[in-house]
This record gives sequence, structure tokens and C-alpha cells, in this order.
Amino acid sequence: MNGEFEFIAGIRKMFPVPQGMLGIGDDCAVIPQEDGMETLVSTDMLVEGSHFLLEDIGPRQLGWKSAAANFSDIAAMGGSPVGSFLALALPSGLPQGWTDAFLTGFKEISDKYGFALLGGDTTASKDRLCICVTVLGRAVRGRSLKRSGARPGDLVCMTGTAGDSAAGLYAILHSIPREEEVPYLTGRHYLPTPRIKEGMMLASTAGIHSMMDISDGIGSDLRHIMEESGTGMEIDLNSMPLSKELKQFCRKNGLDPFDFAADGGEDYELLFTADPSAEAAIQVQHSVIGKVTDTGELVWKGTDKDFKGFRHF
Ligand code: ADP
Ligand code: MG
Repeated sequence: MNGEFEFIAGIRKMFPVPQGMLGIGDDCAVIPQEDGMETLVSTDMLVEGSHFLLEDIGPRQLGWKSAAANFSDIAAMGGSPVGSFLALALPSGLPQGWTDAFLTGFKEISDKYGFALLGGDTTASKDRLCICVTVLGRAVRGRSLKRSGARPGDLVCMTGTAGDSAAGLYAILHSIPREEEVPYLTGRHYLPTPRIKEGMMLASTAGIHSMMDISDGIGSDLRHIMEESGTGMEIDLNSMPLSKELKQFCRKNGLDPFDFAADGGEDYELLFTADPSAEAAIQVQHSVIGKVTDTGELVWKGTDKDFKGFRHF
């Protein structure tokens, strides 16, 4: 536990969730509807200085990423996207054309994945830029995948590759020359892909027991599934999927790719657990990285390190 998660746990105790709804503790809240569907809602804030630096990310990229990070939470439940609300606190002195480019990026991803922008709020900010996006999605009632469903014996799986985004950020912050693999890694950092289609396919596959998206890094995110499910996990570092670009980047710069893969945030891949008998039926490209245990502990195989992911405070 740390400050951020203890704070949220306190709020959760103070505000009980109405019967039938899922509230704090998952990627989205789930509100059952009478038409056999359920509504998914999530909100996330991006604050200048904490989540991004204006000199490091362009406005178009930030617009894309603000929507991507939020719709990733809809993907994490296996939902289909409905729409978004965009709240902006804008400081004076933003460069000319900044907001237009931001909205262009937000629109590009919205058009690509069929998100509708339905409203929001605009205020001035005395200090920093703040972006708050709320997203809505839908799933068949009872079918959205929660963090709480993991069972001992399940395989722990993830889509895509781990650590690219964090390595991209490292390259940006350390001004590492743009060798051939760097644009791929910075692209993964600036313009992440929410795994909407994959999430929906997983939600309609029998035997998938739990799911979330990787936003804070696997080392942190795995623990959310463990805590919500009351399980442990054993993760084999050597089976973590690494892109060839990440491996090449780390080789050239004397870095350990597993530090990025296990601790680095913002991959926005899906992390899920599945009954071993269901694995063959999974249509989504994925890697098996470990298994769910009943010990309550997170054990890393193939390393002496412990990985805790990214923490805000
Ligand atoms: P994610 O990384 O998927 O966006 P978070 O770690 O931000 O999830 O949040 C974890 C859970 O805590 C979510 O269910 C979220 O709705 C809830 N949460 C976070 N901050 C607050 C808050 N200030 N008030 C109420 N719920 C909160
Ligand atoms: Mg999430």
C-alpha cells in the first residue's frame, strides 16, 4: 500500500456503493441497465507537471493520449465505447494554435475508434493545464470483466508488449538520439492504442476470469487484481513479452528491459487471467506471463528484484 491507494481505500469505506452497482476499485464503475446491458463509466485527470510536461509532448499527441488513456479503462472491462466528456482548465499563455492541435488529436482517436464527444467543461487555470476526461461504455449485463474474478490456477496473460512506453519516455527525458528503434518507442508513449477490440473479444470468451489495463506498470497493476480477487501471483520475468525495439534500445544504452517492462507505466495493454482450459480458445494475441496462486503474495521468478510499478505519491 502507499499514499495514493490508501487514500482511495479511505474514500471507498466512506461512500458505500448502491446495491447492484460496482463502484470504486475497478477500471470503470458498472451501472446495470434494464435493457440487458450495463453502463461503464470512468474518469481520469492529466495534470501538467505530474502526467506530462508541455515542452515534452505536443498538443496533438496530448489530445490523442488523453482520450486513449481513458478509453483504455473501457477496454479493460471488455466494453464498447459510447462517448466522452472533456473538461479543460487552460492557463493563459498557451502557444498559438495549441488548443486547436489538442482537439485535432482528440478528434483523430475519437473518429478512429468511434468515440462521441458529448460534453465537458472549460475554465481558466491560474497555473497549470489540467485535462479531465470522463468516458462511457457499454457491455452485456454481467459480462464486463472485473479485477476481482481471478482464481488460483488461472494463467496470467497480457496483450502486446510491455515497457515500450516507459522506454519511449526515457528516451525523451534523456534526449537519446533518434536511432531507428526510438520513434517506435516514443510513438507507443505519445500515441497509445486502447485495446478496445481485444477487450470486447476477451469479454465474450468463456473462461476469462479477470481483466484490467496496464496503466501504472505491471508491478503495480498485478497487485490490484490480487487485492480485489484475494489471490497471489507468480510471474516469470523471462516470459514477459518484449518488443525487438525495446531490446535493441536497452542493449545500446546499457539498460535492463525488464525494468521498463515490469515497472514502466502507460503501456495500455490488457492484463487478464484465464482458466488454463480456456487459453486455446483465446483469439486475441497474448502472452502467458505467470499464474494465479492462493498465497496472497506476488512472487517474481527469474529475478532477485521486486517491481512495484509507478506511484503518483
Ligand atoms: P485507473 O488507473 O484504472 O484509472 P485508478 O488507480 O486511477 O484507476 O483508480 C482506482 C479506483 O479508485 C477507480 O475505481 C477509481 O474510480 C477510484 N478513485 C480514484 N480516485 C478517486 C476519488 N478521488 N474519489 C472516488 N473514487 C476514486
Ligand atoms: Mg485502468
